Amino acid sequence: MRKDYQDKLYALLCDIWGYSETMFEEHKSCARMVEFLKEEGFEVQTPVADMDTAYVGVYGSGKPVICFLAEYDALHGMSQEADICKYSPLEEREQGHGCGHHLLGTGAIGAAMLYKDYLQENGISGTVKIVGCPAEEGGSGKAYLARAGFFDDADVALTWHPDNFHMVTTGSSQACIQAFFDFHGVSSHAAAAPHLGRSALDAVEIMDVGANYLREHIEPTERLHYAIVKTGGESPNVVQAEARVKYLIRSTSAKKVKALYERVCDVARGAAMITGTTVDIIFDEGLYDTLPNFALEDVLKESFLKIGIPEYTAEERAYAKAFKESFPLENALNNVPGAVIDIMALKDNIEESELCDIFVDRIHYEACEPGSTDVGDVSWVLPTAQISTACYSHGAGAHSWQWTGQGKSSIALKGAVLAAEVLADAAKSLTEKPELIEKAKAEFAKRMRGQKYECLIPADVKPHIYS
Ligand SMILES: [Zn+2]
Ligand SMILES: [Zn+2]
Repeated sequence: MRKDYQDKLYALLCDIWGYSETMFEEHKSCARMVEFLKEEGFEVQTPVADMDTAYVGVYGSGKPVICFLAEYDALHGMSQEADICKYSPLEEREQGHGCGHHLLGTGAIGAAMLYKDYLQENGISGTVKIVGCPAEEGGSGKAYLARAGFFDDADVALTWHPDNFHMVTTGSSQACIQAFFDFHGVSSHAAAAPHLGRSALDAVEIMDVGANYLREHIEPTERLHYAIVKTGGESPNVVQAEARVKYLIRSTSAKKVKALYERVCDVARGAAMITGTTVDIIFDEGLYDTLPNFALEDVLKESFLKIGIPEYTAEERAYAKAFKESFPLENALNNVPGAVIDIMALKDNIEESELCDIFVDRIHYEACEPGSTDVGDVSWVLPTAQISTACYSHGAGAHSWQWTGQGKSSIALKGAVLAAEVLADAAKSLTEKPELIEKAKAEFAKRMRGQKYECLIPADVKPHIYS
């Protein structure tokens, strides 16, 4: 990639790292990206799909229509000084880019720029759509965009995620539903008149006990997590009249997660009945599992191998070494991606090198990896595929202070630039060989088996931040 492009992208990612805005609050990040894209000659629409911090940038016309997905939201509790290899949160803020979405969004924009240049320089028919997707962490931004039809006219979607490894993403991710359970009881003096009280906190506790028993009778790949977000107050001598628990429910498909969600709702209703309270169930968010697309994964792999792994300098290796050593090696060796063809070579690389300097080849697979992404919703609308590039040292994984701390390093920039180059090159291949798009579409149709994407989020639920 041209040096001036790299410089511009580096300035962009540094600014977004500095803003560190969390879900649906990405106002500065969105505005910065929108301005950037306008300067680069894209026509940009914002806000879109009821989200002030979402945007769609378009260049070109006609087929194919290729979407690149950009993210830019940060996480709570992830503040960290840059380039400091010890836990050292910045005093003025608690949010940070612990998942690398400042790189993700910037790399996707880089891909859109490179593909736009290709279309322009060759006078070729084609449309590039760069979709600014807010709130990947906890807000389902892409699900709202998918629900509003922002991917309907596109042929394929390509994206990436910063990682510890250079590889093509394969397999699926979990569908999930998040909901609040608000229990309402009656307060009273806990000693003088407990018989007059009905405890909402008891209901929450009984619901959690019920859910923990339910765990025994769900599939091993399913997950239930909860957080008590309102306990009903700090006075033990008051029967707590209001309490709230938030559940995150995951399964391997949208259909299964809906069924599991209903079982959890029954547990909540049971807890209300036992305690003489009432319960309101408030749907928060829902995401689809990811439909892989092997045909697109092959295109991405070819581009990845063509472009190759970056060279790292001695300074970069020393920098990465310090971060690698801040994390137990045993844990790094225990947290490797699935379906790697030469797992011993990868483990050797983790042991011997400071950072991933090999292409991690994987077999295609469909198994569901734990965790969820709103890329899933996009993958149910059109053929979608992703890559990962190493933006961080070996060692600590996503949502760690180490990832936040390395977010502005030259290694991170190299990862974002590599992602941009690979995605743009894959887009070029798809443009030059339309049969590749047809193959991806045929596979998509086969996987859908006549099913239709119906967003898990009920139509009356708009993008929101519930406190
Ligand atoms: Zn994340
Ligand atoms: Zn992420």
